[in-house]
Amino acid sequence: MGTAYTVKYAGRGRPVPGDLESLQEAVEGALRSVQQGMSVYLPDSELSRFNRHEDGSPFPMSAETFHVFRRAIQIGEESGGAFDITVGPIVNLYGFGPDPFRVNLPSEEELVALRPSIGYQKLELDSAAGTIRKRHSKVRCDLSAIAKGYGADRVAAVLDRRGMGDYMVEVGGEVRVRGCNLEGQPWRIAIERPVADDVEIHRVVPLIDQAIATTGDYRVFYIRDGKRISHTIDPRTGRPVGHSLASVTVIADDGESADAWATALMVLGAEEGGALAERRKMAALFLSRGEDGRILERATAAFPG
Ligand code: ADP
Ligand code: MG
Repeated sequence: MGTAYTVKYAGRGRPVPGDLESLQEAVEGALRSVQQGMSVYLPDSELSRFNRHEDGSPFPMSAETFHVFRRAIQIGEESGGAFDITVGPIVNLYGFGPDPFRVNLPSEEELVALRPSIGYQKLELDSAAGTIRKRHSKVRCDLSAIAKGYGADRVAAVLDRRGMGDYMVEVGGEVRVRGCNLEGQPWRIAIERPVADDVEIHRVVPLIDQAIATTGDYRVFYIRDGKRISHTIDPRTGRPVGHSLASVTVIADDGESADAWATALMVLGAEEGGALAERRKMAALFLSRGEDGRILERATAAFPG
């Protein structure tokens, strides 16, 4: 999926040197399986094959990928459509997908032409059969906003099965922790200051047995006609989000939820997203760019101080 991972472990159940090779093999096996299921970059991944499947018949999906589709659609509903895995074709048009980068922004006609294939309601999931059917043949899905968090969950499951009680897993920036760090304290996870040209810490949160994910517009973006083009698409307009929100961080019980909700709240913005997160008692931190380059912060009540 074009990214890297980290596993750190401490204390309880930590592997002895002789176990390291098989541990690494198990971790990479779990990640390979997520990639083989959900990458939009591998032409033979299950997701890529589903995207090419156009004959209207139900597509048999592996249990893992089916689970992520179901969770993605659930978060789509809970976020009022802000999270929508069918934005894939728009992501591609703006140059953030597997298609080659284009110099010109998409035209109104191109965007209108895509409309019939956008909307997670165009996916029909059959849990009993383990199949997914497209209600429109051109539906193309993109799991990039949830698969890394899910990958962190799968790696955590591997470590749990091996009896490891103190670890931190990070997949492409999405983090999941269990137990304590080497000092016997909660893991300390830094949230970046959302600036493009530097790596600075905005603040540090202590975390126990939870997941944390950040989505932002300060790493993956380009400037066209003086406007910042972000890789987060607002499915309601079919265009990249255009507000002053620079990043959203979400803490949740698992990585897939944290990852997907960070993207959903990024679409909604600090006002609407903040209100929804507050109603759902979610821990979320919104960082916006104020005038004079200052970073403005808004945190929900559940976000650690
Ligand atoms: P990051 O890659 O910074 O962790 P995300 O988790 O938000 O960020 O994933 C961004 C990717 O999610 C985009 O590149 C695109 O493929 C996809 N995406 C963009 N907008 C949406 C959306 N509204 N709902 C679901 N997925 C989206
Ligand atoms: Mg995400």
